[in-house]
Amino acid sequence: MSAEGFDVAVIGGGLHGLSAALHLARRGRRVVVIERRWTGRHASGATAAGVRTLGRDVAEIPISLEAMEMWHRIASIVGDDCGFHAHGQLRIAEREEHMPDLLRRETRVRALGYAHEEIIDAVELRRLVPALSPHCVGALVARNDGAADPHRTILAFRRSCEAAGVVIVEGCGIETVDRERADWLLACGARCFRAPAVVNAAGAWGARIAALFGDGIALGVRASMMIVTERLAPLLAPVASVVGRALSFKQSDQGTLVIGGGLQGTADLDRERSTVNFTELAKGARAASDLFPVVRDVRLARCWTGIEAQTRDHLPVIGASPQAPGLFHVFGFSGHGFQLVPVAGAILSDLVVEGSTRREIAAFSPQRLMQERAAA
Ligand SMILES: Cc1cc2nc3c(=O)[nH]c(=O)nc-3n(C[C@H](O)[C@H](O)[C@H](O)COP(=O)(O)OP(=O)(O)OC[C@H]3O[C@@H](n4cnc5c(N)ncnc54)[C@H](O)[C@@H]3O)c2cc1C
Repeated sequence: MSAEGFDVAVIGGGLHGLSAALHLARRGRRVVVIERRWTGRHASGATAAGVRTLGRDVAEIPISLEAMEMWHRIASIVGDDCGFHAHGQLRIAEREEHMPDLLRRETRVRALGYAHEEIIDAVELRRLVPALSPHCVGALVARNDGAADPHRTILAFRRSCEAAGVVIVEGCGIETVDRERADWLLACGARCFRAPAVVNAAGAWGARIAALFGDGIALGVRASMMIVTERLAPLLAPVASVVGRALSFKQSDQGTLVIGGGLQGTADLDRERSTVNFTELAKGARAASDLFPVVRDVRLARCWTGIEAQTRDHLPVIGASPQAPGLFHVFGFSGHGFQLVPVAGAILSDLVVEGSTRREIAAFSPQRLMQERAAA
């Protein structure tokens, strides 16, 4: 079988694979993205597309702030604004006893030198979200945060990739990996791809791809659920979440309410399927109507789940393989990887092209999850 040759082969056509490919192609690399189904088939097409720095693990704050700066000029990067609006994200306290946690978080983040998270009182909260139930007492807000349109984002990254010369191959799942001199050979049915560098952006299947190269990475899986309602008149602009409840609540440009927050269905990695758990989902609907009583009688239009990888510490895996030359991992975003898409691609291109990056990524090293696996 003759192999199709590239400088870099990216496995996985979700947003992280596309972002890595785009940044690499713009640095002159010949790149192929190999996707088992179609671009955006899994987490990137199922996402709520919240663009959030609020409440990030402190290890993620530097890259999340850089990503946010990129979101604010996303049209200059991918030729479309991706439906991104910066109306802020809120973490709401329903009761006074929830405020100390939010205050501690603000103090901690400020002590580290960041100013993007700010405590607001009930009056300011009501000004930002008039439809909120009057029992809420305050919130933590990141005013530059917001949300985007996931499908416009996928399309914009895909089109930019193609314009930069990236070859996108769909319907092609990598099954075996071989080494020939300085190259990796990636086989998928009758096709074979050859490249000295490989980016593993296989999302929930990231550990399976890593294992083909000899990297044993401990990885869990999640199946977050979402609800979308019928269209309503404008109700709220920011994205709202609540202390102590699994709720994320926002309104799309089309007027639908998009309700999520991490409630879990079940995932089946072998069948590439996930299933809604309606008992759990009802908790999200109940939380939404407790916080926004005006939506109590709104009709639900659709619900879904999406499969995504989850690490033990909920931090992504971003970095070079410690033993497979030319292999770079970017997966395991644990339910909050959409916001990091623009910056993670830039990091991957640094790693592939220069062998290092100026960004702080030590906390995301694959090794931390390999040691854990070896110890288990
Ligand atoms: C319901 C839901 C809501 C979310 N909400 C938010 C949010 O509000 N804000 C936020 O920041 N993040 C959110 N996330 C997380 C975010 O969407 C993900 O972190 C991000 O989309 C992950 O992108 P990815 O490219 O790593 O993975 P994916 O999009 O899953 O892409 C991986 C791709 O690899 C392919 N693949 C797998 N194995 C192979 C193989 N052997 N050969 C070839 N291809 C292969 C798969 O088919 C898949 O298309 C949410 C996720 C879900 C599911």
